[in-house]
Amino acid sequence: MTALLRTLFRSLLPAAIGLAAVACAREAPPPTAPAPADYEVSLTRPITEIPRRTIGFLDEGVWVSNELEGGRMSDAWREGDSLVVVHIAPENAPINNSAWYAFKVWSEQSRTVRLRLSYEDGSHRYWPKVRRFGSDVWVPLDSAAVEVAEGNEGAVLSLEVGPDTVWVAGQEMKTSRFFHAWTDELAALPHVEKRPIGESARGRPIHMVEFGAPDALRHVVLVSRQHPPEVTGTMALLPFVEELAGSSPLALEFRERFRVHVVPLMNPDGVDLGHWRHNTGGVDLNRDWVAFHQPETRVVRDEVLRIMEAPGTELWFMADFHSTRRDVFYTLDRRLETDPSGILDRWLGYLEEALPDYEVADSPSLLATPMSRNWFYREFRTPGLIYEVGDDTDRELIREVAVTAARGTMQVLLDALEERER
Ligand SMILES: [Zn+2]
Repeated sequence: MTALLRTLFRSLLPAAIGLAAVACAREAPPPTAPAPADYEVSLTRPITEIPRRTIGFLDEGVWVSNELEGGRMSDAWREGDSLVVVHIAPENAPINNSAWYAFKVWSEQSRTVRLRLSYEDGSHRYWPKVRRFGSDVWVPLDSAAVEVAEGNEGAVLSLEVGPDTVWVAGQEMKTSRFFHAWTDELAALPHVEKRPIGESARGRPIHMVEFGAPDALRHVVLVSRQHPPEVTGTMALLPFVEELAGSSPLALEFRERFRVHVVPLMNPDGVDLGHWRHNTGGVDLNRDWVAFHQPETRVVRDEVLRIMEAPGTELWFMADFHSTRRDVFYTLDRRLETDPSGILDRWLGYLEEALPDYEVADSPSLLATPMSRNWFYREFRTPGLIYEVGDDTDRELIREVAVTAARGTMQVLLDALEERER
C-alpha cells in the first residue's frame, strides 16, 4: 500500500468503524480495530509555559534556578525562617503522576538549605538525586536528608550547598544534549548511521540511528522517551542498543541478516522543557498511535512506513522503552497472532534462563490503548512490547537485564529466521 493510500485509509477508518458498528451492532469489533474514542484522546491541548528564572533569597544568600535544559520548578518562595518551598506543577492536567523536578541551587556561604518540594496535580514520586559542580555523577540523596510527607504529598530535602552549583533532579538527567552526544558516538562506528527524520512541534530534531544489513528484509524498531522523566527506560535502551551494535559474534551474525532502526528520543521538547508526561501539544504521545494528531508520532510512523515500503520487508520485533514503579514487560496478549509467531514467549524464556535470580514480569494485554506497540501490531503483526524499567531499579541491574535482553532478541530472531528458511 502506498503512503497516500495508507493515509486515506486511516482518515476513512473512523467513519468505517462507525458504519460497521451500525451494521452489526451485536458483534464485537474485530480484536485489531481501534476503538472510536482512540481518535480523540490525543487532540492538542494548551500547556502552561514556566518562566525560566533564578530566584534569590537575599537574607539567606540562597538562589534556586530552573534555567537548565530539562529544568522544572514552577515557582519558589520562603516559608518561615528556614525553609524554601520549590513548587512543581505539570505542563497541564489531568496528567499521569510522573512528578518530575529539576533545578539548581547555590548559596554565598556553605550551609545546609532546607527545601520543601510542593506539588500541584501530583505527588512525590522520584527520590532526589544531586550532581555537584565539577562532577558528571548523579548521587541519590542520603535517606537522612529526605523526609517524605505522609501520603507522598511532598518532601523536605536537607541539602549541603555553597558557592558551587548543585543540581537537584528526580532522576539522573538525560536531555537532548546527552542524546546528541550518545548518538554521535554510536555513529562514529563505521557500520552505524544517524540521521534526522523530522522535527518536534518546537523544531527540535528527531533522530534515527540505524545499523545492520542495508538490504535486509527483516527489521527491528526500537523507540524511547515518549515520556520525558522516564530516564530508567533510557538506561536500558543504551546498553541494549550498544549490544546490538557491538562486536560480539552474535551481533555480527545478527547484523548480516537484520536491520535495526532506533529512535532514542521521541519527545525532545518534553524532555528539554522538563515535562512530566506530555509533548508541547499537551498530549501523552503514547496515546497518539491511532489518531496521529502530534508531529512527533507522525514523524516516526511515516519513517517506519517508508522503510517498510520496500517489497518483501517484514518488521520482526519492536520495543518501546519506558519507566514505571517496577520492572515489567507489557507484551501482547498471546491470542493475537504475530508474524513471526512465538517470539515473545521465547524472548521472555531466554531472559528467565539467562537471569535465574531476576523476576521476569510479563504483563500481556490486548490492543485497548492507542500506544506504539499496538500500532506496530495492527500495521505489521509485529511481536512487540513496552519495556518498562522501575524508577528505583538498581542501575547495574538495569544494564545487565538490557544486555541480556539484547542478546535474547538477536538469538531468538536468528533462530526464527533459520526455522523460516528450513
Ligand atoms: Zn512511559
